[in-house]
Amino acid sequence: MPEDVVIIGGGPAGSTAAIYAARGGLKTLVLDKGTAAGALGMAGRVDNYPGSPQVAGEELIRIMREQAQSFGARFRQERVTGVSLEGKLKLIYTASDAVEARAVIIATGSMGRANALPGEEALIGKGVSYCATCDGAFFRGKAVAVVGDSAEALEEARLLARFAAPLYLVTRKKEPPAALPEGASAITKATVSRILGEKTVTGIVVRQGSLEKNLAVQGVFIYLYGNRPVTGFLGGALPTDRYGCLMVDENMQTAIPGVFAAGDVLCPQVKQAVVAAAEGCRAAMQAIRFLSGENASLGPQPDE
Ligand SMILES: Cc1cc2nc3c(=O)[nH]c(=O)nc-3n(C[C@H](O)[C@H](O)[C@H](O)COP(=O)(O)OP(=O)(O)OC[C@H]3O[C@@H](n4cnc5c(N)ncnc54)[C@H](O)[C@@H]3O)c2cc1C
Repeated sequence: MPEDVVIIGGGPAGSTAAIYAARGGLKTLVLDKGTAAGALGMAGRVDNYPGSPQVAGEELIRIMREQAQSFGARFRQERVTGVSLEGKLKLIYTASDAVEARAVIIATGSMGRANALPGEEALIGKGVSYCATCDGAFFRGKAVAVVGDSAEALEEARLLARFAAPLYLVTRKKEPPAALPEGASAITKATVSRILGEKTVTGIVVRQGSLEKNLAVQGVFIYLYGNRPVTGFLGGALPTDRYGCLMVDENMQTAIPGVFAAGDVLCPQVKQAVVAAAEGCRAAMQAIRFLSGENASLGPQPDE
């Protein structure tokens, strides 16, 4: 028997979709390759999720999953390797299986960045961050480096300037950016060759030409290659924008009817767990409508 809905990814977007889909009566299966692989699973302490102050990211996901399971959703730890979405019944391939579903919600997040710096992965959530809104406040009065050349790096440095001291911008550019935030200093023509620290970040190794020097920092915010939306397993089955983000209409539906997407894989302007959860909710509600024969693209629906 096919699933009513298969949700690919069990972070806040996928787990919230599972809560709403299962509670809405859908036979719901979540395929997730592992909590620690998602953004929230990597977050250390989360202070700003409404109703759950000071919770570890992984714990927050565990709570969401248990809530979804209490309504009958099932979770399987599997990496999705391919999809076939065109037919009425969608096929989702994992290493061990092919699962049939009448609707699909894609919630695989945006932690698809390759080329991590040495030391980066082990210290994510322990001083390594990608989000000043999320983690800036943890670095009040602490030394922080922002690594990157993009407008995003500069924007994040501006946010961090309210908390961090001293604040460094490590950039490959020859000149400091004109709009360097007050109090920040730029280290130009430089790259980071390593992040230092055992349990937490204690510094970075900065390379300028052939010289390397250690810079003591407690936080390092990385904006080098951007966080890539995780869509490779789709094999081009769905259109993406020029940044590789999945695209949906106002009902969270992709170009294929019955296939929805939610969370960071859409590259929302604000990448926060509460936003991903809200989108997961909307995607599940639209999947319920789709499966009950209503046209999900009819536009806004009355409140449930
Ligand atoms: C270090 C860090 C700190 C953060 N701190 C905060 C904070 O304090 N507050 C806040 O609100 N937000 C914070 N965020 C942002 C927040 O975590 C994300 O916006 C949110 O987790 C996005 O949710 P998501 O469900 O879309 O994706 P994710 O949380 O990334 O979950 C995606 C899931 O999909 C799974 N997956 C990926 N590919 C596959 C595949 N092929 N097959 C099966 N499963 C797959 C992954 O295993 C993962 O479980 C932080 C992010 C980071 C990286």
